Amino acid sequence: MRTDVMGVGFDNVTMAEAIEKAKALLSQPGHAYCVTPNAEIVYEAMHDENFRAILNGAALVLPDGAGTVLGAKLLGTPLKEKVAGIDFAANLLGILEETGKRLYLLGGKPGIAEQAAENMKKKHPGLCICGTADGYFKDEAPVIEKINASKPDALFVCLGAPKQEIFMHAHRDDLNVPMMIGLGGSLDGFAGTVKRAPDWMIRLQLEWLYRLIKEPKRIGRMMRLPKFVLAVLAQRMRGGNSHG
Ligand code: UDP
Repeated sequence: MRTDVMGVGFDNVTMAEAIEKAKALLSQPGHAYCVTPNAEIVYEAMHDENFRAILNGAALVLPDGAGTVLGAKLLGTPLKEKVAGIDFAANLLGILEETGKRLYLLGGKPGIAEQAAENMKKKHPGLCICGTADGYFKDEAPVIEKINASKPDALFVCLGAPKQEIFMHAHRDDLNVPMMIGLGGSLDGFAGTVKRAPDWMIRLQLEWLYRLIKEPKRIGRMMRLPKFVLAVLAQRMRGGNSHG
């Protein structure tokens, strides 16, 4: 049973439980895709039925960001904890290294995935990164062909939302990858080109404020956050979590 937050069903898992689920996906046949929606993405999904269905069709739906966790709490169905996509991905690297699985990195501007791979290898020397590609392609077929030829077990899809979710959903049968996951701007984080908020801000759930200060042009997108909270409060007044 998933925890519904304004129409998007989240897996109510701790980071450790999410990693266990990922291990299972990595070792079973099939082409599973995973998503990490934050409140902005949930707000977008509230107004886009198709996108909502794509999110809900994922094998794993992890709550990235304080907004989704707050939303669940306000609706009376709290989630165990925030499982930020980039932290999940960082933990997954250790599992991939331990189990000898192959990772492919897709997304970001040219050079970003390569830089991210280099930094990942510094921390996880035994990690096999079997390929990288930037996220600014016109034709999808050669990208898919290149990924399949590298035979990855895991694929990080970092094209931003909703592009990455649409890509994974549309090509889930074409991509021979047991586990793929949409991770937004995470490769910029691994590459070091976009710095993460200081720990104290993360602890105080202020990561969104840090991003806003660093990238003021995100204001339009970020306005979805208060709109999301207002929608959650309206839902709560209507009687809590009966949406969807
Ligand atoms: N991106 C991409 N291809 C595109 C558009 C975006 O690879 O056509 C990349 C972009 O370079 C960035 C990431 O997708 O690395 C989106 O980052 P953002 O922080 O906006 O994503 P979020 O995590 O907020 O969805």
